[in-house]
Amino acid sequence: MDHPVIAAVREFVDDEVRPVAAALEHADAYPHALVARMRELGLFGALVPEPFGGLGLDVTTYARVIEELCRGWMSLAGVINSHTMAALIVLNHGTDAQRQRFLPRFARGDARGGLALTEPHAGTDVQAIRTVARRRGDDYVLTGTKLFITNGREGNTLALLARSRSRSSATRAWTRPS
Ligand SMILES: Cc1cc2nc3c(=O)[nH]c(=O)nc-3n(C[C@H](O)[C@H](O)[C@H](O)COP(=O)(O)OP(=O)(O)OC[C@H]3O[C@@H](n4cnc5c(N)ncnc54)[C@H](O)[C@@H]3O)c2cc1C
Repeated sequence: MDHPVIAAVREFVDDEVRPVAAALEHADAYPHALVARMRELGLFGALVPEPFGGLGLDVTTYARVIEELCRGWMSLAGVINSHTMAALIVLNHGTDAQRQRFLPRFARGDARGGLALTEPHAGTDVQAIRTVARRRGDDYVLTGTKLFITNGREGNTLALLARSRSRSSATRAWTRPS
């Protein structure tokens, strides 16, 4: 049997997304109201396990949710997918402390995630990135420039790719100072 979230997203897309998607696209406007509704539907925690407050969907169900969103407006899928990639990095590669700290916030949509790889001179060729992360006590200080980052403006908790030494790189969750 289908997970009930699929029907809920289908209804959301038909009733709330399709009527406004073209106008928002042509106005180049960020869909704040639709994103708030996706948050209410729990989509920011789609792949976050239930113990951390997420829906804990399997990836097939997640793919069907994304398919429904794209039926209405592909840009909404970008908002959720980029966020989900950041959450999965913490889930699969973070420490226990990072999971406890970030995953419930990702699931609620308080932490809004994204993935910051691309730089003005480095897109496909990710190895050419120049952003540097230098250790300062318990923190890293980042120096560099990123662009084309989905959720870069609206997000606040990004997984960012930087070089930590001249020939290696490190991915680090970064929380925008409030
Ligand atoms: C809608 C959208 C959302 C995005 N969101 C994000 C995001 O959230 N985070 C992020 O980090 N980036 C994001 N990007 C950036 C995206 O990852 C880059 O645009 C992509 O990696 C390509 O890089 P580029 O634009 O510099 O093109 P280039 O790397 O300059 O490539 C240009 C063309 O050359 C081809 N090409 C490049 N190298 C080779 C090669 N060695 N051999 C043959 N062909 C080659 C490519 O296939 C392409 O057709 C987003 C881009 C778009 C359009």
